[in-house]
Amino acid sequence: MHWLNLPYDGDFEDAERWRFVLTASGFSMLSLIIPTVVLTRLVANTQSSYRRLQRIQSQTETLAKYDSLSGLINRRVFMDVLRKKLDLQRPLAILLIDLDHFKAINDQHGHSAGDSVLVEVSHRLQGIAAIHAGTAARLGGDEFCLLFLDHREESELAEIAELAVRWLSEPVLETTLCARLGATIGISRSWVDAQDASSLLHCADTAMYRGKNTGRSTFNFYDNEYERQLRAQADLDLALRHAVDREEIVPFFQPIVTLPSQQVVGFEILARWLKPDGSTGMPTDFIPLLERMGLIPAMTRSLVRQACRAASLWDDDLHLSLNVSATMITDELFPDRLVEQLRHEDFPFERFEVEITEEALVGNLEAAQRNLSKLHGYGISVALDDFGIGYSGLYHLTRLSIDKIKIDRSFFEAGNIDHLPMVEAILGMARSLKMKVTAEGIEDFHHPYLPKWLAENGCHYAQGYLYGSPQAGSTIATAIQAPVVVCGAAQN
Ligand code: C2E
Ligand code: CA
Ligand code: CA
Repeated sequence: MHWLNLPYDGDFEDAERWRFVLTASGFSMLSLIIPTVVLTRLVANTQSSYRRLQRIQSQTETLAKYDSLSGLINRRVFMDVLRKKLDLQRPLAILLIDLDHFKAINDQHGHSAGDSVLVEVSHRLQGIAAIHAGTAARLGGDEFCLLFLDHREESELAEIAELAVRWLSEPVLETTLCARLGATIGISRSWVDAQDASSLLHCADTAMYRGKNTGRSTFNFYDNEYERQLRAQADLDLALRHAVDREEIVPFFQPIVTLPSQQVVGFEILARWLKPDGSTGMPTDFIPLLERMGLIPAMTRSLVRQACRAASLWDDDLHLSLNVSATMITDELFPDRLVEQLRHEDFPFERFEVEITEEALVGNLEAAQRNLSKLHGYGISVALDDFGIGYSGLYHLTRLSIDKIKIDRSFFEAGNIDHLPMVEAILGMARSLKMKVTAEGIEDFHHPYLPKWLAENGCHYAQGYLYGSPQAGSTIATAIQAPVVVCGAAQN
């Protein structure tokens, strides 16, 4: 203190002096230690955050590249790989693999069994990729892909595909032993089918789709012609959808005459597609397509509407007969919907008839039985169409509410009278069962003998080109006003 020239109190106690010195140095020490500790902590925290961040980043990268379940590369990375390999300008092939019946495994054994199947499938595909120096990827769901560079020979690729189909058809788990697993494969090749990644994948997809349509557990190479047919089919489907919406499908009407007078008593509604190009589509061509597309009910509704409106201009005792397909006759709502529509169109139920074939009945006999009784109850009559060429079971005739049978036109073929004894037998049977009978396919050359013979043997009605081919509703309206109801020869 002397040396520093500071005032110094000599009386200051030794102990106090020391306390002061210790306190001062303590504080100095603390002021050094605390920031050091805090700083060290801070540095450690920053380091661990950085490490965590790095870990997350690498996990994110892995997730972005690899499918977490199978460990295979995912779709995005596969497309990158494919693009890069295509840039090498060397021939390559891809095998698009879609599992068969995978949904059933998921549904029956649960999602964890489904996951195990996917993992096992991935291992098997990785095995195949390893054997043939290829790349395996999971594109999503139960869709996988194998890529092989420099594989050009069709036979070589077919061998790999065969192996894949075989391996993937083997049972995977104890629990799924009973569930049939399999795979359908589509193959496409660069230089042959397409040159860019997404087109190549599309080609493989089309080839795979072909396999799905033709039996599954198989493989197909991409075929340009098949794709062209698919496109044409899709165009036709779209055109048909429009045709139903825009009422391009119209009712034509074929007269049905009573025997022996041969006077028209009604018309059968026969669908015609008046195409925008001016041509006319026939029902045997478009009805099966509409059936597949589930559009028969919409078309039938539209036909009934148009037919009732056309018939409102005719004599008010003429009947209408509607062909009803199998799907509709077994639809529980069909009878009520039909009568509701007839009521709306103000068309009497007693003047309406539905025609069904026996094929339509056998699929779901009970439902058909209920519906036929319901229709019958409303006063709508039921005719069994094309009788004699199908099942022709007595069961159908006796147990179902059938009022009329229509003998198929094949019984009245040109120059063939061998069937007439059978027609006679059918007429006898119908008489016993108190059913009406219509003979179909009566043509000009049958005149005058067949209509006469039919009438004498108890046939009630006839239909065929002799009395008129199916015509547009407008021509019938004018014919009725004329009034030329029965055509040419029949009037004699
Ligand atoms: P179908 O019910 O047996 O109809 C009779 C078919 O025989 C009609 O053919 C008709 O043009 C034809 N035909 C009529 N008279 C004669 C004849 O004297 N000789 C010959 N050789 N043929 C004759 P179309 O119009 O081509 O109909 C074929 C089938 O398509 C129909 O057979 C029916 O099963 C089905 N169909 C027609 N329209 C509809 C419909 O609106 N709905 C449903 N579900 N099916 C329909
Ligand atoms: Ca018919
Ligand atoms: Ca028929």
